[in-house]
Amino acid sequence: MILITKSNDKAQEIAQKLDTNNPIKPVFVHENRVALAGVKNLPDSTLNEISQYIVETITNHHPAIVSSRDFHPNDSIIKTNHSIIGGNHFIFMAGPDSIESAEHVLEMGRQVKAAGATILRGGAFKPRTSPYSFQGNGEVGLKAHRAAADELGMDMITEILDTRDVDLVDSYTDIFQVGTRNMQNFALLKALGQKRKPVVLKRGMSATIDDLLNAAEYIAAGGNMQIMLMERGIRTYDNKYTRNTIDVSAIPVLQSLTHYPVIADASHAAGVAKFVTPLALAATAAGSQGLMTEIHDDPAHAFVDGAQALTPEAFSQLADKVRKIHDIVAHDN
Ligand code: PEP
Repeated sequence: MILITKSNDKAQEIAQKLDTNNPIKPVFVHENRVALAGVKNLPDSTLNEISQYIVETITNHHPAIVSSRDFHPNDSIIKTNHSIIGGNHFIFMAGPDSIESAEHVLEMGRQVKAAGATILRGGAFKPRTSPYSFQGNGEVGLKAHRAAADELGMDMITEILDTRDVDLVDSYTDIFQVGTRNMQNFALLKALGQKRKPVVLKRGMSATIDDLLNAAEYIAAGGNMQIMLMERGIRTYDNKYTRNTIDVSAIPVLQSLTHYPVIADASHAAGVAKFVTPLALAATAAGSQGLMTEIHDDPAHAFVDGAQALTPEAFSQLADKVRKIHDIVAHDN
């Protein structure tokens, strides 16, 4: 087994501490570090072996190994058909909470695209608090979502809830979304680690930053380094007036610890439409590299979470303000 180290000195220091029968062979292999970061071609089996070994042996000391900025000092940039995510780029992911009909998602997509979104969001499998609430339109929803994204020239992002649906969702989506309730569904994270498609990993509503980093590491350990981390609000002692509390401090902290793009979802953080814009602006000022926003043309009749949905017009105004703030933040870097 090989332990990749940051420098040759470090490799020798560790080697001296290990007895000669120890299966760990510390080496400084620059190319392999690069390869682990997904840039060079190492066979997946080798990547998995190295990543898993590193994760199993050192996780106790550091939550993120291949996800860490030490390992990959530059920002990771993720490129999809219609979007560039990470670095100084700013990305808008927007759309309805759930896919209600083919006509509706197409019209919502048209409106968010006009406001600057390149990624069309929408849930076909919905994680609802009550089993009696609308659970999503399943594959019919995925088809409608795909058709709308294709017609509009946008990327599609949708939530995956269950390992049994990984191949089905994979056959439609451009980006997988792992929701707050599944952030530590390790079977799901491992399955997505075997894919070579971007994954948005939302922070669990009660997860620490280290929990989130470890969850990301599960995906990376499988060799899939195309990860975006999403701050979507956490549970605190006062969630009477907002649904959750957006942890803006998590944004720069995560960016200092990892190389993955960090994006904010002010809709689920606020839970109330009138608070979405101020929270989105705060997240942008804190350095968020994108926003996920829920919109609906008739929020009172939305199938899911109408209370937090912005109208397309309000989203367009939000996007204009966000661009101005991001310009300042990006030029400051
Ligand atoms: C969603 O984005 O549709 C969603 C359910 O989000 P979260 O997992 O953050 O609650």
